[in-house]
Amino acid sequence: MKIHEFQGKLVLQKYGVPTTKGQVAFTNDQVKEIAEQIGGTVVVKAQVHVGGRGKAGGVKLGKTPTEAFEVGKQILGMDLKGLKVKKVLVEGAINIDKEYYLGMLFDRDTKQIIVMVSAEGGMDIEEVNEKTPEKISRVWVDPTLGLQDFQIRDLIFGANLDKAYVKPITKFLRGLYNAFVGSDATLAEINPLVITKEGEVIAADCKMDIDDNALFRQPELAQWQESEDDNAIEDEARLRGLTYVHLSGDIGIIGNGAGLVMTTLDAVSREGGQPSNFLDIGGGAKAEVVRNALDVVLMETKVKAVLINIFGGITRCDEVAKGILEATSTMDIKVPIVVRFSGTREEEGRMLLEGTKLIPAASMQEAARKVVEVAYGAAVR
Ligand code: GDP
Ligand code: MN
Repeated sequence: MKIHEFQGKLVLQKYGVPTTKGQVAFTNDQVKEIAEQIGGTVVVKAQVHVGGRGKAGGVKLGKTPTEAFEVGKQILGMDLKGLKVKKVLVEGAINIDKEYYLGMLFDRDTKQIIVMVSAEGGMDIEEVNEKTPEKISRVWVDPTLGLQDFQIRDLIFGANLDKAYVKPITKFLRGLYNAFVGSDATLAEINPLVITKEGEVIAADCKMDIDDNALFRQPELAQWQESEDDNAIEDEARLRGLTYVHLSGDIGIIGNGAGLVMTTLDAVSREGGQPSNFLDIGGGAKAEVVRNALDVVLMETKVKAVLINIFGGITRCDEVAKGILEATSTMDIKVPIVVRFSGTREEEGRMLLEGTKLIPAASMQEAARKVVEVAYGAAVR
């Protein structure tokens, strides 16, 4: 789950990490009011779940409250990389001397936390990573040991940061690490970490992702989930207790078991089809569940055909067949549905489908081929 810059900064402050502070505004008038309270130059920053806001025109300075109002007018409501800006963070501007980059992310390969530091912070860090990766120093942190002092020294000296700031940056890194672990983050990026002309070390930006699987123990952070940024169909599926992921294609996929559904996506792709979703209905498949699954899959109006792929273990294929028939008999479905059963009572399941509009398939490959055919016409292959 992504959280906004202003939320990330609240998390950091809880861990004693210094950040710039401001207030969130939803209207131009609020921007002006906050700018009046702060006094002097303010920076107005779009709060959307996307990086590179500065270059896209989502971060601007306002020297007076009136200018802040004007800048707010440009940013609020703008389209920033496909997302509509609904709120901005208004902060007192800082006098930037140096911009550093600090990043922490969970590395699945090593099961460790990668900590990255660069003296080349600011808006071009992606380019630095591509062209001069040696300018980013990295250490891998064993989560059972935590970030060690020698690693912090390696980072600071490796990245050639200003030696005058070793102490405050060390403190900053420790705090950031604690915030990262304590909030179950999978990513935390401070870009830029600013050294101000006054010699302060302070986070001017904060990008943080929280592990969705840990939200149950992060109730404060879980409140920040914003459904409007997600896919509406995914929200509806979640409400119905289904595991659904939106994809960009036009062939609806329903299966039982995450592994089977993933394999089904591959099989359909191999036949030249483009899946429109991932949907795992789990064990059992009562009519109610099948109806919900079909409902959700067909909310995606692009869907041209649906493939239901069921592996019968404890789940019996004939029961699933009954569920499918019961569900489809009460629904007005305009697209063809291919059904493949494998395992317990597959024969019985297939027999139940005979004489119906449902298209049976004996193997996964056949099912994939058939669903692509009925979706796009035979010409595709
Ligand atoms: P991002 O582009 O989404 O990463 O947004 P940032 O919050 O990092 O802002 C982009 C750039 O705006 C930073 O790299 C800074 O150079 C600049 N910036 C941000 N806040 C301030 C500020 O308070 N004062 C000044 N002068 N520049 C700022
Ligand atoms: Mn940034």
